[in-house]
Amino acid sequence: MNSLEEKIKWQVPASLLTDKKWDVAIIGAGPAGAIAAVHLAAKNHQVLLFDKKKFPREKVCGDGLLQDALNCLDNAGLGPSVRESGHLVQNATIFSPSRKEVDIDGTFLMIKRHILDTLIAKRAVELGADFSCGEVDRVYVKPDQSVCLSSSESNRIYRARVGIFATGANLRLLKRTGWQAPPPIHTISLRCYAQSSVELDRIIISYDKSIVPGYAWIFPMGNHEYNLGCGVSHKRTTTKSINLKKVFNAFITEFPLARELMQHCTHTTPLMGAGLRCGFEGVNPYTNGPLLAIGETIGTTLPFTGEGIGKAMETGQLAAEFVHQALVTDDLEKLKGYDRWLRNEFKPKYKSYLSAENWLSNPLINDFLLARMGKSKRSLRILSGILSEANDPRELFSLKGILLMLSGRKR
Ligand SMILES: Cc1cc2nc3c(=O)[nH]c(=O)nc-3n(C[C@H](O)[C@H](O)[C@H](O)COP(=O)(O)OP(=O)(O)OC[C@H]3O[C@@H](n4cnc5c(N)ncnc54)[C@H](O)[C@@H]3O)c2cc1C
Repeated sequence: MNSLEEKIKWQVPASLLTDKKWDVAIIGAGPAGAIAAVHLAAKNHQVLLFDKKKFPREKVCGDGLLQDALNCLDNAGLGPSVRESGHLVQNATIFSPSRKEVDIDGTFLMIKRHILDTLIAKRAVELGADFSCGEVDRVYVKPDQSVCLSSSESNRIYRARVGIFATGANLRLLKRTGWQAPPPIHTISLRCYAQSSVELDRIIISYDKSIVPGYAWIFPMGNHEYNLGCGVSHKRTTTKSINLKKVFNAFITEFPLARELMQHCTHTTPLMGAGLRCGFEGVNPYTNGPLLAIGETIGTTLPFTGEGIGKAMETGQLAAEFVHQALVTDDLEKLKGYDRWLRNEFKPKYKSYLSAENWLSNPLINDFLLARMGKSKRSLRILSGILSEANDPRELFSLKGILLMLSGRKR
């Protein structure tokens, strides 16, 4: 048994859970669900965390954490252990369709998801949460407002006062529960890992001609290992049947850095794909009686950056606060505040990230904008700030922003 498995030995099969009524049952132990479990268990609530997969489990991802994710991990007391297990990268180069380059500084922590997600779930368990392995196949609310779940692994019913859905981009369970039907998935992506003798310690983002309206990436994981992938927004594809594997193959054969990396590659893992729900294109409303939905289930991944881990955790942290207030005051009406808060405070930001994605999805505009940005220190500073969410994307990606850039204003 390796040390990671040893640490997580408390993920008990659903059939072995003791019979009790939990305060909160959380379905899905990705970053959203597990961070909610950490915060609720830290406040001494009885938490039941379910995942259909046995941990540590793989999750198809680019594995990149930005500042919002690091803040959430710090809030959960996980900053040091995650930083210790990850690989810090502090530069990124963005390539336009005709390969104009823009270099920016930033903080990017690369960490494989089976490690990150296990660290968070483990923290929840340390704080007293019950962590179980089982696929939840049914959730319903009884007339007395208590939440009941069943798992395909056992014929028992698990009861809780509040239920949180954190099941990621797959909404099968939500739909079965009668939640409003969501729009189709926003983005499709795939990735593989490659071990290569090439030395590269910067994030590479490419809007190469064969990829735009999506983008491809090379993320250094440390020790000569790289996460390579690409993603294309479904909405922007003219044909529905885009062949993402072909797009990826074009990237690794036509884009010089990727080609070189693959030519000196000693080992690659198979390509694996998954969908992303961005721009709040998930289930709605976000609170439904004693049930809440968080993370990619409600579409929290940011358009333009594709950054979803931090945003998933932010909603998990937020939901935990509303659930805590509702439980200590014994007033489940307070859960509606979570829905209101997301709509009024959280969601507006997504519009401006979507506008950045829209501008860059046109190859000509993309080329023009990145070429101008490369010449302006002010624009580079803002671009870096957009990634860390210190700046609003509309400072660059709007008519006003573009006019400012054209006027050559430097600060
Ligand atoms: C190719 C790709 C690259 C990406 N790159 C990045 C990146 O570099 N940085 C970034 O920030 N984001 C990235 N993302 C987005 C990121 O992966 C998601 O935003 C993030 O995983 C969302 O977290 P979550 O907790 O909401 O859902 P998930 O991480 O998907 O977790 C959901 C969990 O629920 C469990 N589950 C589902 N249904 C059930 C059920 N019925 N019963 C029990 N358990 C269930 C699943 O097993 C899973 O563990 C990428 C996504 C893809 C596809």
